[in-house]
Amino acid sequence: MSEMPTCIGCGMQIQTERPGEAGYAPPSSLNKEEIICQRCFRLKNYNELQPVSLTDDDFLKILNGLGERKGLIVKIVDIFDFNGSWLPGLHRFAGGNDILLIANKADLLPKSVKQQKLIHWMKQEANKLGLKPVDILTVSAHKGDGVEEAMQAIEKHRNGEDVYIVGSTNVGKSTFINRIIKQATGQNDVITTSHFPGTTLDMIEIPLDDERSLYDTPGIINHHQLAHYLHADDLKKIMPKKEIKPRVFQLNPEQTLYIGGLARFDFIQGKRSSFTVHIANDLLIHRTKLENADQLYEEHLGDMLSPPSAEHKESFPELVRHEFRVKDSKTDIVFSGLGWITVQHPDVVVAAYAPRGVEVMIRPSLI
Ligand code: GDP
Repeated sequence: MSEMPTCIGCGMQIQTERPGEAGYAPPSSLNKEEIICQRCFRLKNYNELQPVSLTDDDFLKILNGLGERKGLIVKIVDIFDFNGSWLPGLHRFAGGNDILLIANKADLLPKSVKQQKLIHWMKQEANKLGLKPVDILTVSAHKGDGVEEAMQAIEKHRNGEDVYIVGSTNVGKSTFINRIIKQATGQNDVITTSHFPGTTLDMIEIPLDDERSLYDTPGIINHHQLAHYLHADDLKKIMPKKEIKPRVFQLNPEQTLYIGGLARFDFIQGKRSSFTVHIANDLLIHRTKLENADQLYEEHLGDMLSPPSAEHKESFPELVRHEFRVKDSKTDIVFSGLGWITVQHPDVVVAAYAPRGVEVMIRPSLI
């Protein structure tokens, strides 16, 4: 039997025997010139995700292979979910290869975010996490901003070798690669993209001008991503689609903000001050008194406080409290994958609550 073709969407080898498993396509589709697996077909046409059985071990195996090859590793992170989309230990998988760090979805940041501050912060975070990238860039794969510069940086740092694009699921890796292909060849949407985490399955090889190739590796599921705790319907609501419009709240101590039912922010101690919320414009923010906050959550999670929706609230993890004493003015409290709240004034005590497993951290304001 001749070798089966691969799916033009996800790169998986097509198989016609096991529906529900990766690469399945109905036998009739084999006659077509361009074959797309059922999963990618549904995703493309109905924006609906079919779960497939691919384990974390499979992803790790592919990553492990990177260290044995020679080339530039391009690591893509989601600027909005920097820590949630980080791949811990990539420097160990990299062997001696250089890593170029690209932060995607820059179009979501308010215009007032200072590029220099952002790059500086990413550099510090990367170093803290054990990674010394050869360069750091921001792009919007969606709009195309910065993509040309990113292509030039890739060309410069690959030194004539292959390129491996890695990233956790949902960082926009496929969108980025599609952009590159489009810019280089004029072809549209070669790789499947979607709202849902984990849509790119096997390594896809894209030939470069010389004898080398660019490889799209599978998105790695990072269980710290808020996205994994949400149903697809709810996920759509938290993912910002447009530039975030900061929302300012003047709070007295002992007041609480709920961000849907996904996160909570208590102003515990300090003078009346302003807090600027940077999260998806569609998410509702609910203000209440600290003393009523627990009860409100118990009674109204899934209705007034949603997402998660009533239907999916049972499987949503409990919120975990993180307390911060903020000494400096203009400090961000970051909810990984959701956004951040800027504490405008110094000397306050606040508590941030996020679902168990989702990171909360503090940084000097990017604005
Ligand atoms: P992958 O899993 O890393 O391959 O991610 P995809 O390319 O499928 O993108 C995941 C989601 O992020 C999709 O809903 C994309 O539309 C969205 N996305 C990708 N790039 C950008 C970007 O530059 N800006 C914004 N706002 N959204 C993006």
